[in-house]
Amino acid sequence: MRHVYLDNNATTPIDPAVLERMIPFFRDDFGNAASIHTYGQKARAAVEEARQAVAELIHASPSDIVFTSGGTEADNLAVRGVADQRRTQGNHVITTQIEHPAVLRTCEALERESLHVTYLGVDRDGRLSMDELREAVRPETILISVMHANNEVGSIQPLAEIGSLARRKGIVFHTDAVQSFGKIPVDVEELNVDLLSISSHKLHGPKGVGALYLRPDVPLQPMMLGGSHERRRRAGTENVPGIVGLGGAAQRAAEEMEDFGARVRGLRDRLEQGILEAIPDTVVNGGTDQRMPHVSNVSFPGLEGEALLIALDFQGVAVSTGAACSSGSLQPSHVLQAMKLERSRIQSAIRFSLSRMTTAEDVDYVLEVLAGTVERMREMTTRKVR
Ligand code: PLP
Repeated sequence: MRHVYLDNNATTPIDPAVLERMIPFFRDDFGNAASIHTYGQKARAAVEEARQAVAELIHASPSDIVFTSGGTEADNLAVRGVADQRRTQGNHVITTQIEHPAVLRTCEALERESLHVTYLGVDRDGRLSMDELREAVRPETILISVMHANNEVGSIQPLAEIGSLARRKGIVFHTDAVQSFGKIPVDVEELNVDLLSISSHKLHGPKGVGALYLRPDVPLQPMMLGGSHERRRRAGTENVPGIVGLGGAAQRAAEEMEDFGARVRGLRDRLEQGILEAIPDTVVNGGTDQRMPHVSNVSFPGLEGEALLIALDFQGVAVSTGAACSSGSLQPSHVLQAMKLERSRIQSAIRFSLSRMTTAEDVDYVLEVLAGTVERMREMTTRKVR
């Protein structure tokens, strides 16, 4: 049986060249990057090289990059760190209903500490309204946190416009760029971004490592307290192999970005068109041109997304639903709900997320198995209803 992995927004396979670069730092070059001796210096040089590669990809200065344990920590550090630091200047934060839980749960924690949070809605394409954002701004707004690209539908937010509004109003602007970093151009100057979250494992790098870009004039309350690592912004011995992996992944992404944009978009469109043509009553969620080139979120009304996911898994195809499984109960996708889609569309949604490792044969195999699977499952459901 062929195996096709189309769940790259959950995580990506590591790039073999990236893994090769990491291995020496587990084995021979195991030094602590804070140590003065040769072992330490070697580790420090590798960390700084990675910092340079990450910074280059977002047009930032290496000293503005803080390494973290991943995107979740970067989001927590950004939202909590700014809110705690600026609490005396105001008590209002603006975000959206479609953020990753790393931002949403942090905002909810701030609400329990008497901060006010506005959760902006989105339209049926998964994009926020600039007018609604302008109306939400108050004199006491200290932070706007809006993700760059959404993980479930791939919708891209108008960051440059949000950033210039934030700058004019003296509000700090954070963006979660976990799903866009290294896949589409990200320039912190053009986008007027003050803080930006990055994760390595969405980009063929290792898990458990990420980074936060932090504009130098933005004061931040650190979360991890301890040694003076990362210029006192994040205490803890640096994960040298992981950071080397993130740096390597960033370098590879810079080389591959053009190809990613063109080739992967072509494959995604082939998959999407193939589904829409072959399977009746299918509909794409958030399918505008303001969308990541590798993501397709499709609903198969009449089916349960979970059941289709499992049926595809039996045939070697890995995809995802937007639904989150917590404590044994399936929660409908908060993103599709915020887009105000019909229930049947939300329940039957499947996310296909490609990567630069996806091939035309992969797409054709998925198309081959999908139509028959959906047809069989729909037949079974109608029989049950009768
Ligand atoms: N933000 C977004 C948009 C994501 O998709 C994810 C991962 O799913 C995260 C943050 C969390 O990143 P990490 O898995 O590195 O903690």
